[in-house]
Amino acid sequence: MDFILSGESKMMVKAARDFARQEIDPIIGKIEKEDAIPEDIWQKFAKAQMLGIMIPKEYGGIGSSALNVIFILEELAKTGSAAAFLVALSNSVSETIYHWGSEALRERFIPPLCNGSGYATMAFTEPATGSDPTAITTTAKPDGDYYVLNGTKRFISYGHKKGYGVFYAKDETERVTAFLVDKSSDGYTWSKPWSLMGLAGQGLVDIFLKDVKVPKENILGDKGRGFHILLRWIAGERVQQMAFMVGMGQECLNEALKFAKERMVRGRPMTAMQGFQWMLAEMHASIEASRWWTYRVASKQDQGDDITVDSAALKLFVVPTIQEVARKALQIHGSYGYCKDYKIERLYRMIASPGVTAGSTEIQKTLVGSALARS
Ligand SMILES: Cc1cc2nc3c(=O)[nH]c(=O)nc-3n(C[C@H](O)[C@H](O)[C@H](O)COP(=O)(O)OP(=O)(O)OC[C@H]3O[C@@H](n4cnc5c(N)ncnc54)[C@H](O)[C@@H]3O)c2cc1C
Repeated sequence: MDFILSGESKMMVKAARDFARQEIDPIIGKIEKEDAIPEDIWQKFAKAQMLGIMIPKEYGGIGSSALNVIFILEELAKTGSAAAFLVALSNSVSETIYHWGSEALRERFIPPLCNGSGYATMAFTEPATGSDPTAITTTAKPDGDYYVLNGTKRFISYGHKKGYGVFYAKDETERVTAFLVDKSSDGYTWSKPWSLMGLAGQGLVDIFLKDVKVPKENILGDKGRGFHILLRWIAGERVQQMAFMVGMGQECLNEALKFAKERMVRGRPMTAMQGFQWMLAEMHASIEASRWWTYRVASKQDQGDDITVDSAALKLFVVPTIQEVARKALQIHGSYGYCKDYKIERLYRMIASPGVTAGSTEIQKTLVGSALARS
């Protein structure tokens, strides 16, 4: 890749920035208070062409690149809102259905995810595990033209919202298969949302599957090969998550700089003190390194490369790097940084999540280390 944004990418960045300022920033307080994202925002996302970005036009998308998804997410992330996470989820689930699904599945399941009328879900985690695919206990038993799903899925983002989800279950051969589940099916119920440290409005629920009938044609990819689908999806999700980190990290720096310029310490603004200049410089360098590596892995994804190991190494680097940026930004704010009136407080809480979601940091180390050992 070269390091110059195309005209199309520049336009998308600007559109995402304007959207963030006009549509998300004004309702952040409401989202935090009600722990819910207003539903009409999804039609707005759809209208602004931020859903189905990688999906060809005939299924309702705009046929653009993984890199452009990254640019958009980076901008949306600066709002410090879970809405950016959910846009990432919608894009990655629709792309997964497009990549692995039959023509009939593409036609039925993708357009609602692109036009904002259906909400995407990816359900792997269970009460006993989020890291070990062999330990999942949700079952799928064949019954005529259907599979019957039973089990509990834990921590499922937007599992309670109408639409469709990719659910992983053990089939009759004890292998993991991916099923496309209509969330309005009989026997599909959910818990009240978990109360989270950050990410207000994420809508994280447990899903209870009680004899949920799924047509056999709703198997995504090949039967028994669900783990491959999960691995490919989660690799793309990791890169999107890191774009989210880069955007939030940049906003931490912006907030810290704004504060340090205004705050007087011993008669001078904090920015006049070398110690704080050094902190700001380290933050800037950390964000730039994270940003360009994220772009690099996304562009490899666009070239069709397997990014399993690259995305794991990226996450291994970016998560602690941006968490340290957030810590410094809070420190620069002094006690004000610990107050909810300041944006840094929310960013700090949100930045804590990627180390324990979509594959923990330890799992990334195992992925990268074992690949190196095999090489
Ligand atoms: C905001 C949020 C959104 C989420 N959204 C979704 C979603 O939409 N869909 C979904 O399916 N899940 C979702 N999750 C769940 C999340 O992805 C899992 O919780 C996560 O993958 C970790 O799984 P776990 O909590 O079961 O930890 P465990 O797998 O029980 O791990 C516990 C600890 O042990 C470590 N560990 C585990 N195995 C190993 C190993 N082999 N070697 C070394 N260390 C190991 C882990 O790193 C971790 O530190 C979400 C969670 C949150 C908080």
